[in-house]
Amino acid sequence: MRVTSVLLATALIFIGELAHGESTEVDSTPIETWKGKTVLIFTPHPDDDTFACGGIMKILADNGNNVQIVIYTNDDKGSLDPDMTSERLARIRKAEEEKACNILGIPAANITWLGYEDGNLEYADPQRLRGEAARQIKKHRPDAVFTIDPGQKHERWHKTDHRMAAFITQDAFIASEWHLYYPQHLLVDKLKPYHVPVAYYYYTEDPNVTIDITGVFEDKAKAAAAHVSQFEPSLSKYTPEMGKETFEGIKAWAASLSKEDGKMVEKFRRLEWP
Ligand SMILES: [Zn+2]
Repeated sequence: MRVTSVLLATALIFIGELAHGESTEVDSTPIETWKGKTVLIFTPHPDDDTFACGGIMKILADNGNNVQIVIYTNDDKGSLDPDMTSERLARIRKAEEEKACNILGIPAANITWLGYEDGNLEYADPQRLRGEAARQIKKHRPDAVFTIDPGQKHERWHKTDHRMAAFITQDAFIASEWHLYYPQHLLVDKLKPYHVPVAYYYYTEDPNVTIDITGVFEDKAKAAAAHVSQFEPSLSKYTPEMGKETFEGIKAWAASLSKEDGKMVEKFRRLEWP
């Protein structure tokens, strides 16, 4: 009888775990002090992660955390160069992202490319897209997720990929918690449900966390500048080289976005996911 009760209790705990993800404790210490954690960053294009989170990415990597990046699109449309092709641009953007991540201390092996075409995320199958994002959450089981804030700004106006990435990632939080969403993840791939403990939303209008990135700002500026083809003159006529003047311009632009009270900062909306 007693054994039966124990077995029953164990089974109920197991079912509970399957039904609503693994219980994950929220680490409420400042994220810039984390060590040995896993952080998953969702980005619509191979540059939003660098521009919005490059500082904290570098700090997390330096502190020995496992920083994983999931990129929705291959960014193969954003060039004004008449001689550019989508295939070539995708290759260039991939190499630029890998270089930027390398500067931030994150290996290319930590980048997952979902491979959607630039500007087409909103026209992809949302059911499939949400499943792919949920799969990444279940696979990496992150202590925190960074993603675009699905706020007003993205509904009023924004690039389609930003809007879609924001909502799809958010929806994937829920889908990853319950085993009956995308049951094949558990049944076939043995990926158990997972509850995202805390989210940090970037490109937000309602920041509640400010992170001092002064010590790594130079690296962030270099990583931003690794996205050569996103800036003139390379945008209009591709060249892999970036002149000193262009780099200084990018650095000044990054500084103007980051400077606050004599420090360089990145701001996020932090939400402990219920
Ligand atoms: Zn973007």
